[in-house]
Amino acid sequence: MLNKKKYNVDGDAGRKAQIQFADQKQEFNKRPTKIGRRSLSRSISQSSTDSYSSAASYTDSSDDETSPRDKQQKNSKGSSDFCVKNIKQAEFGRREIEIAEQEMPALMALRKRAQGEKPLAGAKIVGCTHITAQTAVLMETLGALGAQCRWAACNIYSTLNEVAAALAESGFPVFAWKGESEDDFWWCIDRCVNVEGWQPNMILDDGGDLTHWIYKKYPNMFKKIKGIVEESVTGVHRLYQLSKAGKLCVPAMNVNDSVTKQKFDNLYCCRESILDGLKRTTDMMFGGKQVVVCGYGEVGKGCCAALKAMGSIVYVTEIDPICALQACMDGFRLVKLNEVIRQVDIVITCTGNKNVVTREHLDRMKNSCIVCNMGHSNTEIDVASLRTPELTWERVRSQVDHVIWPDGKRIVLLAEGRLLNLSCSTVPTFVLSITATTQALALIELYNAPEGRYKQDVYLLPKKMDEYVASLHLPTFDAHLTELTDEQAKYLGLNKNGPFKPNYYRY
Ligand code: NAD
Repeated sequence: MLNKKKYNVDGDAGRKAQIQFADQKQEFNKRPTKIGRRSLSRSISQSSTDSYSSAASYTDSSDDETSPRDKQQKNSKGSSDFCVKNIKQAEFGRREIEIAEQEMPALMALRKRAQGEKPLAGAKIVGCTHITAQTAVLMETLGALGAQCRWAACNIYSTLNEVAAALAESGFPVFAWKGESEDDFWWCIDRCVNVEGWQPNMILDDGGDLTHWIYKKYPNMFKKIKGIVEESVTGVHRLYQLSKAGKLCVPAMNVNDSVTKQKFDNLYCCRESILDGLKRTTDMMFGGKQVVVCGYGEVGKGCCAALKAMGSIVYVTEIDPICALQACMDGFRLVKLNEVIRQVDIVITCTGNKNVVTREHLDRMKNSCIVCNMGHSNTEIDVASLRTPELTWERVRSQVDHVIWPDGKRIVLLAEGRLLNLSCSTVPTFVLSITATTQALALIELYNAPEGRYKQDVYLLPKKMDEYVASLHLPTFDAHLTELTDEQAKYLGLNKNGPFKPNYYRY
């Protein structure tokens, strides 16, 4: 049985950082014309416009130009408290959600445990996340745990219309569709919060736009809000900035930096998706290919492990002697990029840094060399330096450009140097399951925490809950965890139920 108290464990004070809020000039309730909606310049945050590939939307009809805001739609129960592209696509969306459920064992376990006991009874959660099959599983889990939810999309491109339709059909007020304008984006968020007779008491945000909107437009709502759960790097930075300025008026949970999420997002997700991204764009074979991976952090380690397993010859570049030594101990040749740039077949950047691959490197690459980036931003490869008159760009596939030198040499640039796996492959559902479970537990924790446990600050997920997220995923593998004996627990000075590691432990 799910015990509310079980989730109430002490939190760690979070770290602080400074980042400016995106400026908002758009007046959301002045509805522009259809053409105007498409051509509006965007002032929404970067994360809400980052291109994001999700499963193909096979029931989308691109010739249906009518804005969802102009349509009168009702679900089969007669409710019209939603705005999606086409409610008739609900059945297809339901199938997508059912597929996702198979790879989200922890959320399904939470639902089972919650039967009879509802740790989120009375919670009114307003959410702003990608609307995909995986977040639908999260939303429906929150519903099963007793919460009422209203939801908007955190990204104007990433909504799976069928999934949004399925959620609307099953009674969730969802306001989202693929290809929203900026005005639509804020309108959808506003429809979630500005409702007669309903006021949110919890926020689940991905990117900070929803939180920002409530701060700007409805600051009084924070009187009833018990906490904010934020998933993204950007949103977390915004929260730390608010906290530093003394303007954060409720506790917030930074789930981005929880250990399980970080490991799965950075190491395991990249280990799985680097090959997928390369394969889908180039149809290449990896065995025997010479690859240089720039950066041997979590992402670099994942990429190197996958390529090594496929029989590639992998070189690593690093600036940090510790990571460099790790690369050596893992059997990779540590080199400077200059030393191998003429011979390698693939260059992958994952440093989080800028200008790691310069025009000089690009000039020296061999014919057909593939160049791509797995780091967060498109600054790692100096793509701008390739926009010179003597070079010809040829778009050969979606996300694949050949850049051709005057002597006929060409390099293959993937996703114009943006993040390869998010642009050209899909993220495994199991990875998203970790994040979604972390979010659900963070909501439960903040919602049930006794007065005074959390102050108006940003907290990391308590380690015990991080461990709990991991433990909920273990049954998938029929994994059998060893329990400490009383004697061993005493010897190590641990509680038998965890937490098992100090906060400074590096996994
Ligand atoms: P990290 O800090 O663990 O690793 C980056 C490594 O690059 C560090 O070891 C650093 O020493 C090294 N480095 C920095 N500058 C370098 C240079 N000029 N040459 C060689 N090495 C250099 O970070 P991480 O978790 O591995 O993340 C790396 C990037 O990937 C970040 O931008 C992160 O946001 C992004 N990321 C991508 C995904 C994805 O799905 N593709 C997932 C998570 C994170």
